[in-house]
Amino acid sequence: MAQVVLEGVSKEFPGGIRALDRVDLQVADGEFLVLVGPSGCGKSTALRLIAGLEQPTGGVISIGDRVVNGLPARRRDVAMVFQSYALYPHLTVAENLAFGARLRDGGWSGRLFDKLARPARAKERADRRANLAARIKEFSQAFGVASLLERLPGQLSGGERQRVALAKALVRSPAASLLDEPLSNVDAQLRVEIRRELKRLHQRQPVTTIYVTHDQVEALTLGDRIGVMRDGQIQQIGQAAEICDRPANLFVAGFIGSPPMNLCLGRLRNTEWDEDGLRFETASWGAQATPESIGRLSQYRDRPIVLGVRPRDARLVADGDPTGDTIKGTIGLIEPLGDSRLVEILFETAGPPHDPGLPDPPVSPLGAPASAGSNLALSSSLMCKIGARYSFRPGDRARVALDMGQAHWFDPLSGLRIDF
Ligand code: ATP
Repeated sequence: MAQVVLEGVSKEFPGGIRALDRVDLQVADGEFLVLVGPSGCGKSTALRLIAGLEQPTGGVISIGDRVVNGLPARRRDVAMVFQSYALYPHLTVAENLAFGARLRDGGWSGRLFDKLARPARAKERADRRANLAARIKEFSQAFGVASLLERLPGQLSGGERQRVALAKALVRSPAASLLDEPLSNVDAQLRVEIRRELKRLHQRQPVTTIYVTHDQVEALTLGDRIGVMRDGQIQQIGQAAEICDRPANLFVAGFIGSPPMNLCLGRLRNTEWDEDGLRFETASWGAQATPESIGRLSQYRDRPIVLGVRPRDARLVADGDPTGDTIKGTIGLIEPLGDSRLVEILFETAGPPHDPGLPDPPVSPLGAPASAGSNLALSSSLMCKIGARYSFRPGDRARVALDMGQAHWFDPLSGLRIDF
């Protein structure tokens, strides 16, 4: 096992396509790191560079204590699983699983050399070979392919082939495992099971793993840490709770979280009845900032700011509920989410549609100018997550209370989080 370190690593393809832009990344020995981000953000390129399938145009890559720039893929002792799975078509599943592991042990000359010159390594190899059958059994069971051991790859479904490829890569105990969307062809239920197995296997044998996905649920459930990528750069890296509770910028806030965070552009004004207080105001609605946040927010007084509220922190208030600071609106779309529902609340715009003091167009977390379709809302709607038992219908009048203790604040120009 080994740590994997990237220092200032860039990859520019011909035509000036910068797939990776000065990335620094340190994956500890035995860590499970997930890289997540939208299509084209550079996740696969990062893996291919670590595997040695591409060469960086800048920076240094180390695996263990050696720099591997220029070292061919086969000498890096990494296992890689792609979305498209490489299995030997003429070998059975069992033979495929055994093949990768034997390959790692080298040929007879390597074994003879170790026997004569490196007895400790020779013993390690011999033990590994002795354990191979047991490992094949363990991994084929973990990935649900134990009943397929005698079949050829051509006799398997796409999802089965993908699971065999995963078992084949991991059965050989590489120094590092690089997994590129390895479950993309597996159905939803099996995916959950295999994720659990991957996690269990990793807890038993913590091989350094870098796992690439565009699925944030997969990222949040699997990773010891998660690196969120965009445009060839890592935007934030940290544990799941850190990334969900303290997104570093508008992009991470908009990308991580299901359903996505409401991001509303507005201004902070003095509260009428309390000159030290601050109120967030849009053209359609307002909400009072908590006293704890005022110290840090006061520099944004009378300036544009983005308020982030997760749908679970926007509560629909029933008639007769005495909650004071509520926002009045109308129910728009209602999306069932199984045990809960996502409800759109539409607001009438009281003032001009766009505050001339706000950046125009305002920054959007997904890079494009804000529009009704981006999730940097123009504050004319909010999404609330509510229990399935509520009986609201589209068109009903409704009141919403925001839990401002859970609010996130962002600078609309830099996109960065404003921390307290
Ligand atoms: P996806 O989730 O769609 O697989 P990704 O995040 O893995 O996307 P990469 O495959 O790493 O993205 O690609 C990053 C960028 O580099 C993209 O803009 C892509 O078009 C470009 N790119 C990747 N490989 C090449 C190549 N061989 N030649 C030119 N451009 C490339």
